[in-house]
Amino acid sequence: MKAVIVRDFGGPEVLELAEVDRPEPGIDDVLVRIHAAGICYHDVLSRGGKIPGGQPGRVLGHEIAGEIVAAGADVPAARVGERVVLYQRLFCGACRHCLAGRQDLCRNSRVLGEHGGGGYAEYACVPARNAIVIPDGLDMTAAALAVCPVGTSVRAALEVGGLAPGQVVLITGAGGGLGLHQIQVAKCVQARVIAVTSSRDKAEIVRDAGADEVIVAPDLKFSGDVWRLTAKQGADVVLENVVTGTFGESLRSCAQQATVVVLGNIGAQRVDLDPGLVIMRRIRIAGSGNATFKDVQVALHLLAAGAVKPFIGRVLPFPQAAEGHALMERRAVTGRVVLAGW
Ligand SMILES: [Zn+2]
Ligand SMILES: [Zn+2]
Repeated sequence: MKAVIVRDFGGPEVLELAEVDRPEPGIDDVLVRIHAAGICYHDVLSRGGKIPGGQPGRVLGHEIAGEIVAAGADVPAARVGERVVLYQRLFCGACRHCLAGRQDLCRNSRVLGEHGGGGYAEYACVPARNAIVIPDGLDMTAAALAVCPVGTSVRAALEVGGLAPGQVVLITGAGGGLGLHQIQVAKCVQARVIAVTSSRDKAEIVRDAGADEVIVAPDLKFSGDVWRLTAKQGADVVLENVVTGTFGESLRSCAQQATVVVLGNIGAQRVDLDPGLVIMRRIRIAGSGNATFKDVQVALHLLAAGAVKPFIGRVLPFPQAAEGHALMERRAVTGRVVLAGW
């Protein structure tokens, strides 16, 4: 089959079209003909050798939608023909986290594309339980984003943040791939969205995504504006997609008993924390990451209902994966770059 492989760690030019063996489904697996694969910033880091454990020669990509074309002996034959999105993590299914429905926490798991078997290929082979049916009427290119970034946004805003109707949510890095989806997820539960972006160019798209207020803060100072916009009440939930250079301001923007959800690590640097502020306002700081199956189901529902519109900046054929990576790296597109067609 055709695939785009990482020849070696390096710039986008190391992504190369190649002929590789088509995987054979084991008894519990399904073979999926891939229709669309999103390019995640994670893939860009992985290609550059910045994700531990990665090896050259593999196929990247964990945002995969396609059609089941073959099934192993223990998989119901009726599954062949299903349109599916792939849960991005291969998990053990037997540990205490998996059994509690938190496959994202499984210590014996790996992400598709990290050690091969990724989405920049004609086919992928996964355990049948990883293949989640796409609702009728939702196209595959949009569905490819259901796990990450939309599912990740559902997890952060609704599950970890516990966002409820009428609450105020502050979203940093609001013009990024996660931020634009988080705004829409927050509006689904009728929260009031205050969005922060450092770039004036992104203010309009952030507003179009549904933000109630947009703060343009090239100097990353925004807590004063949040205070003013909330009559000194602050934000109940903060979705921190940036952290580097913004974390202190996020804490200062918090309402009493707020939750700060940490998703971003843009500069991969340590941050200052004022314990007095955290104690006085009873602030909770919580990390968030991959979506669970439940989050993916919610994401698919919101996408199919049209409540969340996927931000797709560019659709490119698979052999142009290198161009897609270059666009991502230069931040030359707003929204996801999705690979579809050969
Ligand atoms: Zn991703
Ligand atoms: Zn497990």
